[in-house]
Amino acid sequence: MCEPKPRQLMTCPYNKAHQVEQYRMHIHLQKCRKQYPNEAVSVCPFDATHIIRDVEMDYHVRTCPKRILMDSQIYITDDDHCPVTEALSAPVAQPDTTSSENWDDVSTASYLIPTL
Ligand SMILES: [Zn+2]
Ligand SMILES: [Zn+2]
Repeated sequence: MCEPKPRQLMTCPYNKAHQVEQYRMHIHLQKCRKQYPNEAVSVCPFDATHIIRDVEMDYHVRTCPKRILMDSQIYITDDDHCPVTEALSAPVAQPDTTSSENWDDVSTASYLIPTL
C-alpha cells in the first residue's frame, strides 16, 4: 500500500454516526446544522462576534482564527517583557537645588508686601 497521508476523521458534534474528514468538517457542519435548528448557542471565548452552537464549541475553539492570533501575540509579549521592565526602573531626575533657593527669595519678598 502506498498511502502518504492517512485521512483524519472527526466525529460530527451533532451526530456521532457522522465520521467526517477533518478538512471537510466545516462544510459538513453547515449542512448538518440545518437539521438541528434548536441547539443552544454561546459566544466564542476568543471573539464576542462569533456566535457558536454549544455542540460545535469544541470544534470551533480548536479552529478559531482569533485563538491562533492570540497565541502568537502572547509569544511576542513574553519576548518584549524583560527590556520593558528595565526601562521603567530608570532613576528619576533630582530637583535642582540652586533654582529652589532663588524661589525661596521670591516668596519671602512677596510675603513682605503689605496687603491693602
Ligand atoms: Zn453531522
Ligand atoms: Zn471564535
